[in-house]
Amino acid sequence: MSKHYDVIVIGGGPAGMIAAGRAAELGRSVLLLERNNVLGVKLRITGNGRCNVTNAVGLEGFAQYYVDNPKFLYNVFNNFFNVDLRHLLRKYGVKTKIEENSRVFPATDKSGDIIKALQLYLERPQVDIKCRTLVTELVVSEGQVKGVKTLQRDFFEAGKIIIATGGKSYPQLGSNGSGYQWAKKAGHDLIKCRPGLAGIEIKEGWIKKLQGVSINADISLYCAGKKKKQIRGDIVFSHYGISGPAAFDMSMYIDLQEATLRMDIIGCYTYEQAIEELNALIRMSPRAKCKNVLLFNIPRKLLSVCLDIAGINEEKALNQLNKKEKRTLLNILKSVQLTVQRLCPLEEAMVTRGGVDTCRINPKTMESKIIKGLYFCGEVIDIAGLTGGFNLQAAFSTGYVAGESSASGTRYY
Ligand SMILES: Cc1cc2nc3c(=O)[nH]c(=O)nc-3n(C[C@H](O)[C@H](O)[C@H](O)COP(=O)(O)OP(=O)(O)OC[C@H]3O[C@@H](n4cnc5c(N)ncnc54)[C@H](O)[C@@H]3O)c2cc1C
Repeated sequence: MSKHYDVIVIGGGPAGMIAAGRAAELGRSVLLLERNNVLGVKLRITGNGRCNVTNAVGLEGFAQYYVDNPKFLYNVFNNFFNVDLRHLLRKYGVKTKIEENSRVFPATDKSGDIIKALQLYLERPQVDIKCRTLVTELVVSEGQVKGVKTLQRDFFEAGKIIIATGGKSYPQLGSNGSGYQWAKKAGHDLIKCRPGLAGIEIKEGWIKKLQGVSINADISLYCAGKKKKQIRGDIVFSHYGISGPAAFDMSMYIDLQEATLRMDIIGCYTYEQAIEELNALIRMSPRAKCKNVLLFNIPRKLLSVCLDIAGINEEKALNQLNKKEKRTLLNILKSVQLTVQRLCPLEEAMVTRGGVDTCRINPKTMESKIIKGLYFCGEVIDIAGLTGGFNLQAAFSTGYVAGESSASGTRYY
């Protein structure tokens, strides 16, 4: 079977859905191909099912939340930004709300509502959607896209093709990196794929005792003895190391050359304030055993591990602590060392760093500078942001612009 469309979009994630919707809105015949049974499979699990859809930070400060190629995104954010996304969602029935750190979620806390809104966007005017359709080949001839072939041996023709196939993380959700191979074959350079927003495996054995404990702390990254980065936020301990937003963000700065983290568990106290607080507690409950006290609101399991590292028997009464022990304990609480073993594998990371090199993609249109009629959007491009809704906004902004420019540029037949 062979059928002709103005625009074909490969990949029904957030980038592909909005790209297809925008091209159709501008009057083009559009085909959206998705290998899964339904659209937006990864989108559904984002933000623990709540979907942190974007961030309400202003345009001036937005790019600083992207670790890779922030400048490449200036143009697309100028064209389609967080306010535009929220308007579009509102138009299709989804109210959004702003939470801590300017994170934006659907008011219902349901990622499914974002998917429903995007599906409505695809219906008016209608985009042809084919799920359970794995694209196996991008057909290019004489520097111009011609169409795509699918596993079912169908051939769909188009003068404009948008690759929105995502990265390589969570491949079980559909994105396994096929877009990279087509880009490479078409002459694009690929930047090595690696885990982004990943859990951090830690060498110290005591970490295992803390599985399930979560805290708000400052973590600092040291490489070759030099402090490279400091982040404050939520950290969750697990059997292998640390995860949670602050750890995920920190993973973006770790290049693994003797990386060491130092965690300040009581970051809101200076050393002097902490010693005062400890002495006040000793005055109040002198005979309380170390293991039973609520010190700086630290979870018990964590306090017990810190006492152990400090060499203090947790059965000791508070008033038996000598000056050196107090100092050692506070030093541990203010700067406990975590030696980085490695990052969790790409398959388990939230995003893929690396991908199609931005050098040969026009930042104003998302069109390939090598192949006519070929466009890229979303995570398949070498762009990656921190936690907080920045990756979805990048997918939506690049997708919208790819859809718009594929519809408004020259029509190739
Ligand atoms: C657990 C988790 C939580 C996350 N939470 C957030 C969050 O709250 N906020 C945030 O900003 N970001 C979050 N992210 C990141 C965000 O989900 C991604 O950056 C975003 O989904 C990328 O969108 P995309 O459209 O480029 O790719 P994807 O969402 O991966 O979509 C690509 C689509 O292409 C399809 N496809 C691939 N190859 C083919 C092919 N050959 N033929 C047909 N179809 C194909 C795939 O099946 C897939 O549906 C999270 C990621 C994970 C894993």
